[in-house]
Parts: sequence; C-alpha cells; structure tokens
Amino acid sequence: MPTSLPTQISLPELTATSLAILDRLTHGVICLDRHGVICYLNRLAAQLLETDREQTVGRRVDMLPLRHPLYKVLSEARRDETLEVSLDGTLLAVSMLLITDAGVLSGGELVEVRDVTADKRQRRQREEVVAMMTHDLKSPLTVLMGYLQAVREEMVAGGSEMLRGCFSEMERSAQKLQGMIEDILDAYRLEAGLFRINKHHCDLRPLFAGCCREFMVEAERYGVDLRYKVTDNSIPALADGKQLSRVFANLIGNALKFTPRHGSVAVEGHQMDGVFRVTVRDTGIGIPGKDLPKIFNKYFRASGTSGFKGTGLGLSITKAIVDAHDGSIEVESQEGEGSCFTVVIPCGISLNKGA
Ligand code: ADP
Repeated sequence: MPTSLPTQISLPELTATSLAILDRLTHGVICLDRHGVICYLNRLAAQLLETDREQTVGRRVDMLPLRHPLYKVLSEARRDETLEVSLDGTLLAVSMLLITDAGVLSGGELVEVRDVTADKRQRRQREEVVAMMTHDLKSPLTVLMGYLQAVREEMVAGGSEMLRGCFSEMERSAQKLQGMIEDILDAYRLEAGLFRINKHHCDLRPLFAGCCREFMVEAERYGVDLRYKVTDNSIPALADGKQLSRVFANLIGNALKFTPRHGSVAVEGHQMDGVFRVTVRDTGIGIPGKDLPKIFNKYFRASGTSGFKGTGLGLSITKAIVDAHDGSIEVESQEGEGSCFTVVIPCGISLNKGA
C-alpha cells in the first residue's frame, strides 16, 4: 500500500488513506494539473496503459512519446464526454472532468479509464441474438402480409365494409411491425458496421412528394392537418432513394404521432444552393430542452413519450442515413409547443455528373 505519492509533484491534500483507496479502485484514475502535467495515476491506470508510474508522473502530456498508450488516451479524451479508445484489442472507456474545487489541482483534469472490452463483447453477443431472432420474424410476417393482401384484393367487390376495414387495419399493423423489425435490424447493422447505403442517380422530388402523399390518409386518421410543399423542378441527386424515403417517412411519421388531434404538420422541401432542404414542423408535444442533445441517440425516448408507441431507434437510423449522404439534421423544439426537424442533403446536376 503506497504511503506517499510515487511522484515528484506534491499533492498535500491527498492523504495516505486516500491514496490507498484510489489504488484499490476498479477504474483507472489519472490527474492532470492545469498545465497538463500528470500529477497522479492510480495502480489500475498504470496497468491498463502499460505505464511505469515513477517515470510518468511529473511529465507533461504533450512531452510523452506519441505512440505511448497514455498519450493516445489523454490526447483523445474530451471533457464531459465518454469516448471509447481501442488499444491493441482492449477497449477503454475514457472520460474527463474539469477539477474545480481541489486546491492545487483546481483547473486541472481528472481522467477516468475503464476496461469495457468484456462488456462490449457481451453487448455485441446479446445484439446478435436479438438480430437473429428479429431476422427470423421477418419471413412469417412477409408470408402473412402476402396472404392479407391477396384476401383483401379478392374482397374488393364483395365483403362487408366492416370486413374490409378489418383487413386494412391488419395490413397497417403488419406494416408497422415490419418497420419496427427493420429498425431493430438496422440498429444492429449500424453497430456492427454492416449498414449499407446504395447511392444511384435519382430525382428527389417525386420521392419526397410520394412520401408526403402517403401520409395524407394517416394524417386524417390522426385528425391532424398535414400540408406539404415541394419545389416544382426535378431535384437530381446521387442518393439512396429507399433510405432517404425512410428519413422523410420517419420525420413525418413522428410529427403526426407526437401531435394531438386538431394540430398541424407542415412539410416543405426546397432545392437551393446545391442542397435539398426539408423541414418538418409540427404543433405537437415538443421535446424538453434537457432531452434535445440526446434525441439522436439509439433507444432514446424523451420524457413524456411513454404513452406513444415506438422503439427510440428511428432518429438514430435517420441520422446515420443523413450522415452517409454527407448531409445534416437538426432539431428545434419547445416543450408543449412543437418541433421542427431540418434535413439538408447535397444535390444538383454537378453531383450527378461527377458520379
Ligand atoms: P420513436 O418515435 O420510435 O420513439 P425516434 O428515434 O423516432 O423513436 O424518436 C426518438 C424520440 O424523439 C421520441 O421517442 C420522442 O421522444 C422524440 N421525438 C421525435 N420526434 C418528435 C416530434 N416530432 N415531437 C416530439 N418528440 C419527438
């Protein structure tokens, strides 16, 4: 058990007991002073980062050899954010906090390092099982949907109004289920780096307008006034039309879902300065300010949405698709007043020609 700091730096506030406790932590801990000098490493930090404490403490981070694991971790760490840093097959979660009220260390930084290799492996295994099960659900559902459609078509002439209504409802529910299955599978594909975007030359105008039109019936069911406006001209782009349709559908679907009856949703698509800019504005429940920074995270659902159906995956997939098109997505929202999502996708003739 160390009774003094293994260092040239003097930290009088740390007693032998505190040092002993720090050395028994199951997380690595590193302290930097306000000049970026390493003042302290606990035992686990030294072990995880293959560092000799005697030789490291007292050195400035930027004076460490570039290839040194400690340099890699400290140069990548970001304040108030947890980053994953990979070191020769070991995955470390690294977080950094500004020290504000600790005597000589005030203005310095506390870096926490955790070995998350095993956690990550277990999470990946769990996700693989979910993905396999979800994938297997797809086949019987597709068969069911095929038969539902065939029976409904048979019934177009005959069959009661009520029966036709039941079939439409069954088809709608089956489609929703199919959408949820796709979202779960895509969330897994994204995590595993298997998500693919297939770009080709396409016209975004009919794609966008078609998507808006498809929601008119749904808007009527929700009792929400849906209006859309789109540029008259064609919008050439090099894009994955199927995936971009999902982006528009997810934003419009969310706007309808989170807007109470008698509310309104306005969707606009304009081409300008080499981009296609889509806004989806609603007068719905809005998103609390504290939740806005997390809204594109996987499985995140804002507080107050527990009564609404959903998986919390749509926006994370939407953002991944937009990013894969070198576009951007932003949200502005006021709780209780409504939200406005804006998506920008590069487009134009030059893009098409350059492909
Ligand atoms: P889901 O809709 O399945 O919950 P999403 O990833 O599409 O998942 O959305 C994540 C969360 O973002 C929603 O649960 C909701 O809290 C919030 N959200 C998204 N769009 C809106 C909107 N138009 N109005 C209010 N909240 C929204």
